[in-house]
Amino acid sequence: MDFRFAPKQEAFRGEVRAFLQNALPPDWVGSENALDEEAFAFGREFLKKLAPKSWIAPAWPVEYGGLGLSLWEQVVFNEEMAYQRAPLINIAAVGYLGPTIMIYGSEEQKGQHLPGITSGEMIWCQGYSETGAGSDLASLQTRAVQDGDDFVINGQKIWTSQAHYADWIFLLARTDPDAPKHKGISYFLVDMKAPGITVRPLVNMADQHGFNEVFFDNVRVPRSGLLGELNRGWYMATTTLDFERSNVATSAGSQRTLEELTTFARETKADGTLLIERPLARHQLADLWIELSIARFLSYRVVSLQDRGLVPNYEASIVKVFNSEYGQRLARAGLQMLGLYGQLQPESPHARLRGRFERSYLASVGSTIAAGTSEIMRNIIAQRGLGLPRN
Ligand SMILES: Cc1cc2nc3c(=O)[nH]c(=O)nc-3n(C[C@H](O)[C@H](O)[C@H](O)COP(=O)(O)OP(=O)(O)OC[C@H]3O[C@@H](n4cnc5c(N)ncnc54)[C@H](O)[C@@H]3O)c2cc1C
Repeated sequence: MDFRFAPKQEAFRGEVRAFLQNALPPDWVGSENALDEEAFAFGREFLKKLAPKSWIAPAWPVEYGGLGLSLWEQVVFNEEMAYQRAPLINIAAVGYLGPTIMIYGSEEQKGQHLPGITSGEMIWCQGYSETGAGSDLASLQTRAVQDGDDFVINGQKIWTSQAHYADWIFLLARTDPDAPKHKGISYFLVDMKAPGITVRPLVNMADQHGFNEVFFDNVRVPRSGLLGELNRGWYMATTTLDFERSNVATSAGSQRTLEELTTFARETKADGTLLIERPLARHQLADLWIELSIARFLSYRVVSLQDRGLVPNYEASIVKVFNSEYGQRLARAGLQMLGLYGQLQPESPHARLRGRFERSYLASVGSTIAAGTSEIMRNIIAQRGLGLPRN
């Protein structure tokens, strides 16, 4: 099978690469701490460079600020961005909320929200999880009660990535407590500046402030903040999740990291022997390169489904579980090959490969939890993909 891209798509890849080489600093190898304030500010500036080219959401229709790129051009674009480690700071909006608004939103909502995303001005965060509702998301307890023309929201969200930077939040709240749990949920678009919202930081094990708790204390949301039909939010929320899990660019970012690790193994000696000459390192690298191809082809399968107008479901879960677990295997192999130096943080003058593996080892732990845990993905694959009974 020939997996090459068409000449037109490769030409587009060249255009994206040339742009990125110009737009990013000459020695850019990615941000060591993608979550800190400086990196976020840099990311926001970078969005402003993408906006004039309509490259923040290039696959969106032209009327919504995109270029209407084909899915395969979008893949080329995403791969190149990931390979060059370009900052990606509003993926929740570009990747999953925007497409959900396009499907379920009113014309007013599309007009109100989509231009702010494609201009890079409006940053969004995702308010799904609660302390008692993660994998079993439909158990969520945040309430929204209708009061005149408004809804009044009370409750708490947790693990809300980027909430401390976000201008808006899309969230799920219970609007009918008497209905079966999946049927009493609605989907809201809420301004983070609304009175009654408090954001509290949660620092992760890599000592980074990436996610937060968000509290809602009598927050008034106008009716225009309700997306789609009242009490039908669950079905929209799962559409958003399918978009989220279909992220196909991860393998291109992993390729860059694996290339760097392979070069390191070729150039670095331990006890007088090049790492690449040691069977363990050779086998690890060979396995990682094989698995990288698998990751890429699984992603392309999702795209080819989308290209035929189908909505990937368990196929997206396969990509999600494989890519996130692959990222962990890659980080673990890197940490082993770098030896004790691998544990040094990027700031240390003795850190190898700019401390990338120390960062990715710690950061990758969350990747098999975020957007649905590996256990939940495997349940989806078992039930919807293999037709096995519920566990
Ligand atoms: C880096 C990161 C970023 C995140 N960002 C956001 C965000 O921006 N917005 C947001 O809303 N949420 C976010 N989350 C939260 C994430 O969606 C939840 O953590 C996830 O859905 C799991 O829920 P939980 O943490 O409550 O774990 P639980 O659901 O309590 O699960 C605990 C363990 O039990 C297992 N388990 C649970 N149910 C089953 C079952 N039926 N079968 C088998 N095993 C099961 C799980 O796999 C897991 O191992 C983020 C999480 C991480 C790690």
